[in-house]
Amino acid sequence: MNSSSSRTVKNGLLIKRIVERIAEFKPRLRFRWARWRKLKEPAHIEAAAPRIVDSFRNFSKWASIIAIIVGYHVLLGWIFDIQILRTPATGFSTMKVDEALSSVAAGGALYMLQMRRGAMARKLRPIIQFCAGVTALLALLALLQYTFGWNLAQTWGLESQGPSGMSRMALTSSLGFLMIGVSLMILDRPRRQRWVEGLTLISAAISMLAIAGYLYQAEPFQRQMPLYAAVVIFLISCGIICARADCGLMAKVTSNSFGGIMARRLLPATLLIPLALGWLQHEGQRAGLFAAPLGLALFTVADVSLFLLVIWWGVNSLHRMDTKRRQAEYELQETAAKLARSNADLEQFAYVASHDLKEPLRAISGSVQILQERYSKTLNQDADEVIKHTVEGATRMQTLIDDLLTYSRLSIREAPLEPADCSQVVQTALANLETAIQESKAVISQDLLPVVKGDSTQLLQVFQNLINNAIKYRSERTLKVHVGVEEQATEWLFSVRDNGIGIAPQYATRIFRIFQRLHTRKEYSGTGIGLAVCKKIVERHGGRIWVESEPEEGSTFYFTLAK
Ligand code: ADP
Repeated sequence: MNSSSSRTVKNGLLIKRIVERIAEFKPRLRFRWARWRKLKEPAHIEAAAPRIVDSFRNFSKWASIIAIIVGYHVLLGWIFDIQILRTPATGFSTMKVDEALSSVAAGGALYMLQMRRGAMARKLRPIIQFCAGVTALLALLALLQYTFGWNLAQTWGLESQGPSGMSRMALTSSLGFLMIGVSLMILDRPRRQRWVEGLTLISAAISMLAIAGYLYQAEPFQRQMPLYAAVVIFLISCGIICARADCGLMAKVTSNSFGGIMARRLLPATLLIPLALGWLQHEGQRAGLFAAPLGLALFTVADVSLFLLVIWWGVNSLHRMDTKRRQAEYELQETAAKLARSNADLEQFAYVASHDLKEPLRAISGSVQILQERYSKTLNQDADEVIKHTVEGATRMQTLIDDLLTYSRLSIREAPLEPADCSQVVQTALANLETAIQESKAVISQDLLPVVKGDSTQLLQVFQNLINNAIKYRSERTLKVHVGVEEQATEWLFSVRDNGIGIAPQYATRIFRIFQRLHTRKEYSGTGIGLAVCKKIVERHGGRIWVESEPEEGSTFYFTLAK
């Protein structure tokens, strides 16, 4: 094999290895990307603060009003040929007619965009699109003129009729207005937020360059973008970003998170300090106070010192906020621990109380039953009634205490979680409910259920309670109950579906609370503990339980268990 073919083989192997490595990395990259995206949007922290959003929107409104005023003011300058209305100082380039029209149109669109809700906003939508379109079209027209070397004002004889200098807008202005026009058109389109942010930040940067040029009297800028146009483009660009301060990039700036607070403190300083210092350096040099190198050194030191001050201030307030947060966290932990302790005490109390009450209650109910059996014939009807009520009350109380004991026992005796075959568990539940199933003529079906990690005695309680309820709350129709399961990424989703009387949606969470019932004892017997027991067991297994139901249609109880 000659050297060139061996090199080709080596290269081929190398490429193959690289491709294999990339393939290996792909899932890892995808995982990291997904995790980063999740980290990026912690909704509870990043939510924009409404009061701050409102002040940003106010800024946006004022920016649009200023743009309209400047545009009109310049148009009047052209109509009545008053130079001072077209430019703030002689020697500066004048704002052209198309620039003034674009200012009015863009300002108008931005102003109307503040109305976000209601019929008015809907009616304004086409007008906003029209104004934004005019802004973009005028800018595009100027850009085309620059690209192809046209001068439409000259061709159409406008320059000779109107006052001198009434030609196309500056090239930089046309770029700025084009970006503004497009941003205004797509501002409320979903998933276009990034484009709006990008375009407006570029147009703001272009106009800021022009403003800095005017501030430092840099020749090319004075001849390029007129000062009025630079101010309008800068204000409208910032106004567009602030108009939707509750979403995208701005949501982070307006949020109450540490990042948002820092951003609001640092942003004005970052914008203003270098501009102001640069201006001071320039003026100092012009007045002959110092030469350029010394000016630069002074500027740099002043810049560094001021930024250090701003950062120190920011860090200080961050530190204060962090201390407060830690304090609040500590207090929260303390309260949670106290709550857990008092909960455990209460549960212990409920257990002991119900356990100790059982004995005397059994004695009472036994005695009353004997009274009923032995003397029901000898006593009068009134006494018979009283004894009957007492026996019923004692039996009810016994059931209630038994249920309460079951409920409080759940947290006191926690058996370790071991593999439990759910098919087996459901079979046992059905065997326990055999009489009720036969009486109700229920048709019960079930999927092939998995083996899960759990406490099989407690899981039996869950399935039995849910199936028992399905039987108890049946309707006139033939009762059909289905026990189903669905495999999900990290858990099993179990369901017990019936075609019974159903539950109104507003009670969907209430029924899982202890002693909460939707019916009187006369309608359906029960203590209102069954579903609370199910909830406690499912949560002890790390799952969730809920119901989806429609009155008269039936109910489906869902619960999850870890795989
Ligand atoms: P109990 O059945 O003892 O009243 P539960 O805690 O088991 O207590 O149920 C609470 C309430 O939820 C019941 O009173 C009933 O109104 C409602 N409920 C439970 N299961 C169903 C079901 N399958 N269909 C309709 N309603 C139900």
